[in-house]
Amino acid sequence: MSTTTNLSAGRPYLAIPGPSVIPDAVLQAMHRPSPNIYAGELLSLTDSLIPDLKALARTEHFVAIYIANGHGAWEAALTNTLQPGDKVLVPASGRFAIGWSEMAEALGIEIEILDFGTAAPWDLEQVAERLRADPGHQIKAVLGVHVDTSSSIRNDVAALRAVMDAAQHPALLMVDCIASLGCDRFEMDAWGVDVMVSACQKGVMTPAGMSFVFFNDKAAAARAKLPRVSRYWDWTPRANPAEFYQYFGGTAPTHHLYGLRAALDLVQQEGLERVWARHARLAEAIWAACECWGAIDDPMQGLRLNVADRGLRSHAVTALHLPAPSASSLRQWLEQNLGLTLGIGLGLAPAGSAEWHGHFRLGHMGHVNGHMIMGLLGGIETGLKALDIPHGQGALAAAAAVLARPV
Ligand SMILES: *Cc1c(COP(=O)(O)O)cnc(C)c1O
Repeated sequence: MSTTTNLSAGRPYLAIPGPSVIPDAVLQAMHRPSPNIYAGELLSLTDSLIPDLKALARTEHFVAIYIANGHGAWEAALTNTLQPGDKVLVPASGRFAIGWSEMAEALGIEIEILDFGTAAPWDLEQVAERLRADPGHQIKAVLGVHVDTSSSIRNDVAALRAVMDAAQHPALLMVDCIASLGCDRFEMDAWGVDVMVSACQKGVMTPAGMSFVFFNDKAAAARAKLPRVSRYWDWTPRANPAEFYQYFGGTAPTHHLYGLRAALDLVQQEGLERVWARHARLAEAIWAACECWGAIDDPMQGLRLNVADRGLRSHAVTALHLPAPSASSLRQWLEQNLGLTLGIGLGLAPAGSAEWHGHFRLGHMGHVNGHMIMGLLGGIETGLKALDIPHGQGALAAAAAVLARPV
């Protein structure tokens, strides 16, 4: 009888762009019986989360917590600021911007998309032109996605604000930081963002199911002008609760709160600036490896980063091309043989189409470190070899050189 060698037992590694790897400290904090929701530790623990969430978003204003995924936070941000018939401008660098605008449309909001494709950042000259062509201020908000997780483009939020200011346009600036919060530098107040939405299962390292809407006084004033906001989504009681249950509009997400506390403790222990620096360095190692793999005679036949310019790449997610069906084969091979799961392609081709099998994504957000990224890259190198996919040499050495650099 022959035995087959299986190299996938052991701890699996989910390297998709959310949900991300959950730290043991978060899992352990959640492993407990239900706490009292009327008095005691859970109440003070929740109060302690608020300043730490604001620090994470670099804001001194307000935060509302929702028991919802990122889509819930999208809807909350829209319903608290806009009403049917209002118009929003949506500069788009990928699928998530389109998704948020579709949600706005479903709420009766008129959307205008400036679509910059799936491999380019916002063209701020075009945004400026559109804002200048709106002297009557029909546009009530600009919706932007900081890091679009489908394309892995990272947009310049501060520059968008500068363009809005230069046009003297009063629209709200609303930003989706679901993929970037806790990974890429984001400065809500300094960058002049009025509303920011995020969720807990990416850079915030907590199981999916909780999301956040941060807002400033200008956004609160927009909310105050609305005739009504549906009771559950209204951010006002959540951000200024007179009673504990108002934080959540009902029963608290008890275990998530313990998990989030542990996750925010990890961020505090490391320091937010150092968290960002870690993500930047790990991303650089990934890029170095990918650029080596892609260095073959006909680059279009090999592995290719979706975003050509390093300065426009997210530090949390990397979208890649590998001619179909190789990308899908690589993902399957790695999961079955090494216990390593990579992300599917999203939004660069219709899901399930032949072309779609030529895209994949790496998640490197949250609880990831040097040895995990070297394991991820070593796994990919192994898969490329096992499947005989053409690739350039020296990828692991290039990544190691990035991580070995002292500063
Ligand atoms: C993941 C993600 C979303 C959607 O979040 P869900 O929790 O899946 O609803 C929206 N925007 C961006 C940028 C994301 O990365």
